[in-house]
Amino acid sequence: MPKIRNFSIIAHIDHGKSTLADRLIQTTGLVSEREFRDQILDTMDLERERGITIKSNTVTLPYVRPNGEEYALNLIDTPGHVDFSYEVSRALASCEGVLLLVDASQGVEAQTLANLYVAMEHDLTIIPVINKIDLPSADVERVKGEIENELALDADQAVLCSAKEGMGIQDVLEAIVERIPEPQGDLEAPLAALIFDAHYDSFRGAIIACRVFDGSVKAGDRIRFMSNGAVHKVEEVGVMRLKREPRKVLKAGEVGYIIAGIKTVSDVSIGDTITLDEDPVADPLPGFREVKPVVFSSIYPVSSDDYPSLAATLEKYKLNDAALVYQKDSSAALGQGFRCGFLGLLHLEIVQERLEREFDQSIIMTVPSVQYRFTLDTGETVTVENPQYYPDPVHIQSTEEPFIRASILCPERYMGTVMKLCTERRGQNPRFNVPIPGRVEIIFDMPLAEVIYDFYDRLKTVTQGYGSFDYEVTDYRPSDLVKVDFLVNGERVDALSIIVHRDRARAWAVQVCDRLKEEIPRHQFKIAIQGAIGTKIIARSTISAFRKDVTAKCYGGDITRKRKLLEKQKKGKKRMKMVGAVSIPQSAFVAVLKTD
Ligand code: GDP
Ligand code: MG
Repeated sequence: MPKIRNFSIIAHIDHGKSTLADRLIQTTGLVSEREFRDQILDTMDLERERGITIKSNTVTLPYVRPNGEEYALNLIDTPGHVDFSYEVSRALASCEGVLLLVDASQGVEAQTLANLYVAMEHDLTIIPVINKIDLPSADVERVKGEIENELALDADQAVLCSAKEGMGIQDVLEAIVERIPEPQGDLEAPLAALIFDAHYDSFRGAIIACRVFDGSVKAGDRIRFMSNGAVHKVEEVGVMRLKREPRKVLKAGEVGYIIAGIKTVSDVSIGDTITLDEDPVADPLPGFREVKPVVFSSIYPVSSDDYPSLAATLEKYKLNDAALVYQKDSSAALGQGFRCGFLGLLHLEIVQERLEREFDQSIIMTVPSVQYRFTLDTGETVTVENPQYYPDPVHIQSTEEPFIRASILCPERYMGTVMKLCTERRGQNPRFNVPIPGRVEIIFDMPLAEVIYDFYDRLKTVTQGYGSFDYEVTDYRPSDLVKVDFLVNGERVDALSIIVHRDRARAWAVQVCDRLKEEIPRHQFKIAIQGAIGTKIIARSTISAFRKDVTAKCYGGDITRKRKLLEKQKKGKKRMKMVGAVSIPQSAFVAVLKTD
């Protein structure tokens, strides 16, 4: 029996986590050089493009030491964004150690720190690895200094490597074997396995990735989820190589998968404990929590005919993404659609892009909203995340909005611009840390609503890419909120309504009116665009009438060009929404979401 090591790689985005993982896979011979292609662990196209891991993958690497000892190294991959920090924590809870990867030219960044704290909370062995030593700009001594001063780790213990060039990979493997402890567990005790991930397979249903802490599990066992008591019969257990490899049994200390005829990943909760129905463990493994969405938006098909197709697509999508929640929604302007809840804005963008690209849906998404709290004159408290359900203002006693603790790490020279950005976004109570000379951590209390649109993009711009951002929702605080509506040609476009802080209402309304003016094509009549709080108009713009026939532009006989133009118009119309007598293109709804 090979000995086991369970580990994960944590790193700031772009420091080379995927490249190192692929290099380990290749070096341990899981794939031949010929089969080796870039970025095996990041499977989705979108992940590759964005350079982040969205759905994590796990793989068991067979490793034979120079002295002949055999090992099974379980590499547990983690998602790489703040929206998925709970999943990261469950993955790390399944390991005994981590490789803390630091880019030899960039040095320690915010996400490195955030992940390190999680690893420390779980008492994991931490192996600092300095990657990209092949770069001309690599400064190993400076990075070692940062590892000592900022992370309080022993820099003499750092392993140097270049994942890209394949240098130092053997040292990394030896460090894993030598320094990370062997997993402990009681094989005779009742089964306790931690679910740290779940994938959807169209033939087998949910594939659960788990770490067995005590006991064992095999095909035929009846397993129980401790969070809800659901019982399933195990069809297959095994380990992940590049494909699933069935095994007779998964034992204490091992990491592998379980298939149990579960239809969707929504029936599986990350962080849940699996035990045996007939011999259950007394207490679940610690740290379970229900994952709740914090950002909400409605999705509508551009063409109402596509509603059934969108409904089917969401159902399919949901099979693989338990974090997405949705329910039916309808809008006077946009017809039938779905109200969706997301873990954060990145999660929202991923869902949007995948629906459009992989599932070929043309959709309109409404402005994202957070969940507000209203206390009514009846004493009742209601939470509202959909502007359509904004309570009648005469009955509102007080309003509250969610706040976050925002942490931004950047070089000192950007401190002024970052402070300005945070203050503009209603940031309060600034605090500072200087983890190492030249770098500053800026902490603000900020409304969640202020970071969900474009905060991260803005931060990247004002810090020329050097700023990193992390946040956690902390509490609800009193706020002065209003609902802003938009009218196009006198018709309220309910899908554009937004709940916003009173101080921000006018600027938002002016911007949206201007955007709509740019995006809505001229019609045969003049169109008034208005932004309003209740009956009070706070912003307006006008689109003047347009009379000429488009085809008049093509003189005389060029019939093919004329036809092409008409076809183009027809296509364009498919992406139009009729609101009263005005056709609004899909792009107008998208443009409203952008600020600059
Ligand atoms: P991740 O976001 O941490 O998964 O980072 P990736 O593995 O996607 O790497 C980010 C970029 O750094 C890619 O362009 C890689 O080719 C590059 N990279 C990774 N490791 C090395 C290395 O050792 N040397 C150099 N020069 N580039 C590397
Ligand atoms: Mg990656």
